Amino acid sequence: MQWFKRRKSIEDKSKKREIPDGLWIKCDGCGEILYKKQIEKNLMVCPKCNHHFRVNSPLYKTLLLDEGTFGEKDENLLPADPLTFKDYQEKIKKSRKKTFLNDAIVCGEGKIKGRDVEICIMDFNFIGGTMGSVVGEKVKRAIQRASDKGLPLIIVTATGGARMQEGMLSLMQMAKTAAALNRLHTPFISILTYPSTAGVLASYASLGDVIIAEPGAHIGFAGPRVIEQTIKRELPEGFQRSEFMLEHGFVDMVVHRKDLRDTVDILLNHLY
Ligand SMILES: [Zn+2]
Repeated sequence: MQWFKRRKSIEDKSKKREIPDGLWIKCDGCGEILYKKQIEKNLMVCPKCNHHFRVNSPLYKTLLLDEGTFGEKDENLLPADPLTFKDYQEKIKKSRKKTFLNDAIVCGEGKIKGRDVEICIMDFNFIGGTMGSVVGEKVKRAIQRASDKGLPLIIVTATGGARMQEGMLSLMQMAKTAAALNRLHTPFISILTYPSTAGVLASYASLGDVIIAEPGAHIGFAGPRVIEQTIKRELPEGFQRSEFMLEHGFVDMVVHRKDLRDTVDILLNHLY
């Protein structure tokens, strides 16, 4: 008589390892189950394979700026619904509840190792970090402030692109932010995280004097599937990842999250 069923093999056992509960997360890079508290201490980077998990805007604020120096600007700008797009209001409401933000970017002034900077940090948790009128306007105002006060500008990007629910009004933010940057005479450091794509990449995110990318970030305009279907060719290994983009000259440096603050400081010492 058999009391217990024996598992077929060790492989079977590992295949069954799903995310058990909120205390553990599964690494998208190596599949390892990791203790969440430990990963949080490690700035949401997998210690086994260096995979950089997507994180929200407060972490970058803590990571980059001197403690207690951030002063937010334009936080009360709210998205309108000019096209009365289906479910848009609902999506905004949900995102506000989830992120405690009014839109997909946080802008303001702070200090990095004692130096005043103008900084914008996008948040993917707010409708995929998409750029509508509010994101575009806040970025434009940050550029303007950097210009008026002679401060360097830093933008951390995490986005799926332009916000389709605002149609053409989203697309015009590309030209607006690019035109504003054209008038900026102080250094602009663009930091690309996972993902940095489409309309935002095709405007301010790719216009940095120095473009830094986190390891393994997805960086591109159209997605790989669309490109493959269009050119009818298989794409090379690592296509649209930070390291591939570095090799092809699109980004200047690939920098581990823990080194971002020091790297920005060194760059500003040289540029400013
Ligand atoms: Zn991993």
